[in-house]
Amino acid sequence: MMEMDYLKESLLREYGGEAEEILAGLSCRRRTTLRVNTLKADRGRVEEELRAAGLSSSPVQGLADALVLPSGSESAVRKLGAYENGEIYLQSLSSMLPPLFLGAEAGEDVLDMAAAPGGKTSQLAQLTGGHAFITACEINHIRAERMKSNLKKLGCGRVNVIERDARKLDDFLRFDRILLDAPCSGSGTLDLTDEGSCKAFSEKLVHNSARLQKELIRKAVRLLKPGGTLLYSTCSLLREENAESAGEMKKLGLLPDPITLEGVEGLRLLDGGLPGSVTVCPNEFFEGFFMARYKKAP
Ligand code: SAM
Repeated sequence: MMEMDYLKESLLREYGGEAEEILAGLSCRRRTTLRVNTLKADRGRVEEELRAAGLSSSPVQGLADALVLPSGSESAVRKLGAYENGEIYLQSLSSMLPPLFLGAEAGEDVLDMAAAPGGKTSQLAQLTGGHAFITACEINHIRAERMKSNLKKLGCGRVNVIERDARKLDDFLRFDRILLDAPCSGSGTLDLTDEGSCKAFSEKLVHNSARLQKELIRKAVRLLKPGGTLLYSTCSLLREENAESAGEMKKLGLLPDPITLEGVEGLRLLDGGLPGSVTVCPNEFFEGFFMARYKKAP
């Protein structure tokens, strides 16, 4: 209870009158959403299979490969052939945003620094047609194994998985683009109506995550090629993990590369306190989420 008071007080302090809308978004039932894996299937084929299974789905303007289903459809989706074959991946709409805005291209060296279970890694492979040189780093053995199995199922054969603390990656490595989808408190994904979903959240977790996030950012800046792009994201709404952690990139000399997120249906943005960054308000469609993009001078 104390931890939830801390969350509510922080949101009120940071977002003022918008805190109520955020709390409502953290208490509503989110729709089931998935990404069509275009490395293996096209949307039309998947929509046909969903229809045949009695599942209604609708596309999302601005997110070409996303489909939205009624809440609670996950178990029905897991029974589909398309799921078994890796033609679709259950993924929140918010978590589809960072790979889109990293802007990776075929032929580039790309690092996904905290990557398991591989949702964004596989989306990066999809967006580059399987032609980028992707390294996916993950500290946790069980999660790394799960990512390997997901990547295999989704047909992302050329991804190099490294099981390591990303802070200890070799300093001679260099990447054109780095996605740091950082470990965080998950405050933007909580379901306030479900005690179980809030059990892991704590003020201590927020402070510890913020410390780790800054260490990971420092490493990412070292591994970035001149002219390279670093996209930092969290599924938290708290400024200590967002604007404050992301501020580390500027302190280290990176240049802000503002993100404009126009035309994505159902998206409601908040003022996260860092110009050029994006803070997504949780609602029926989107989880609470944060992104900031920076570039290294050429
Ligand atoms: N990007 C993933 C996706 O879309 O599927 C989700 C990543 S999750 C937010 C953060 C991940 O970072 C967790 O799997 C966690 O185990 C991992 N992690 C935590 N500390 C790390 C570290 N020091 N080095 C590498 N990975 C780390």
